[in-house]
Amino acid sequence: MSVNHSWVTSANGHADFPLHNLPLGIFSHGQQAPRSGVAIGEQIFDLQAARQAGLFHGLALEAVEASLDGSLNGLFALGKAHRVALRERLLELLSAAATPRPELLHLASDCQLHVPAKIGDYTDFYVGINHAENVGKLFRPDNPLLPNYKHVPIGYHGRASTIRASGAPVRRPNGQTLAAGATEPTFGPSQRLDYELELGIWMGPGNPLGEAIAIGQAGEHIAGYCLLNDWSARDIQAWEYQPLGPFLAKNFITTISPWVVTAEALEPFRCAQAPRPAGDPQPLAYLLDAADQAHGALDIELEVLLLTPGLREQGLPPERLTLSNSQSMYWTPAQLIAHHSVNGCQLQPGDLFGTGTLSGAQPGQFGSLLEISQGGKHPLSLASGETRRFLEDGDEIILRARCSRPGFASIGFGECRGQILPAPAGL
Ligand code: MN
Repeated sequence: MSVNHSWVTSANGHADFPLHNLPLGIFSHGQQAPRSGVAIGEQIFDLQAARQAGLFHGLALEAVEASLDGSLNGLFALGKAHRVALRERLLELLSAAATPRPELLHLASDCQLHVPAKIGDYTDFYVGINHAENVGKLFRPDNPLLPNYKHVPIGYHGRASTIRASGAPVRRPNGQTLAAGATEPTFGPSQRLDYELELGIWMGPGNPLGEAIAIGQAGEHIAGYCLLNDWSARDIQAWEYQPLGPFLAKNFITTISPWVVTAEALEPFRCAQAPRPAGDPQPLAYLLDAADQAHGALDIELEVLLLTPGLREQGLPPERLTLSNSQSMYWTPAQLIAHHSVNGCQLQPGDLFGTGTLSGAQPGQFGSLLEISQGGKHPLSLASGETRRFLEDGDEIILRARCSRPGFASIGFGECRGQILPAPAGL
């Protein structure tokens, strides 16, 4: 019997959640309070029911007890040794060699999934260099990157209160915009609503105020990863963002995939950070670590699908807008943590980072409609006969991710999905 096999038969060959993924999440079933679980195939393994059945001991038991409050913050705070112990015990309990315990499973489609941690702070970075270049070229064709880009991991503080799990509706925002050629702004629904394909990074233990996390230790502060859609109202953004950066254009909602793919599950899919092109500056010492450069990057295939009302009515499948890879990050996740904390800024368990839009350099690899339509100039044509410059009401964006490597079971992230609803009326 293969070590990759589980007695949960839907896990075997599952595109996202085979035995070797074991992502952590918070779910509820019926009227039950939210509780911690693990995705396995089409099922959710109930961690608290398994604890009550006496299946955990030692560090694994402490890890499960730390999520008794229906969030993963306490488990994230414990750090790597506890996550590893829990993972090893789950591999035993769910392997094909173990005694089947179907009473500890729920069918995932019968459950609701929640944002898995109480997010104290959310930070959005801008480290997808192809996106930064593609967008920069729209405004500065000869000099797309600003002078700081290759020295500083660029980011801004986002809003935690509006982060929602996959499936939450996305209400088109109202706001203030300046029409082309106008001198005075007007108010109304955004006409240039967009998606951004990003990875989310969940913080583990973190640091006390005033103490930086060294680059060599930064990786230990990552609990896991998710998909993140940084919905963006480009017309509101263009008018409001100077001089302090995005504000209402991005804080109306951010959607994440609800399963936390742990750092351990992603270990086989780590890779070297791409060498910097000749002429690029070396990172300053606080951002440079040989081990991090050698295997601190991630090889994750990322995909965006669009389902419109027209495609839905004609029974046509969602159309792929984007196929890209997380290797387009100019800075590693550890560099983001080292930079964020270098001034003594406190990072806490359950804080969330967005990487920035992860586009490739070529058409078909662009992680936003701003890039695909070249700022709205070149509409996209769909099989339904519809065209899109930006998102219309009823459109649905679906993010997916997948890791593959010869000799290892492929794993995925599950979906990060959101459908656009009309703007609120009556303002
Ligand atoms: Mn973003």
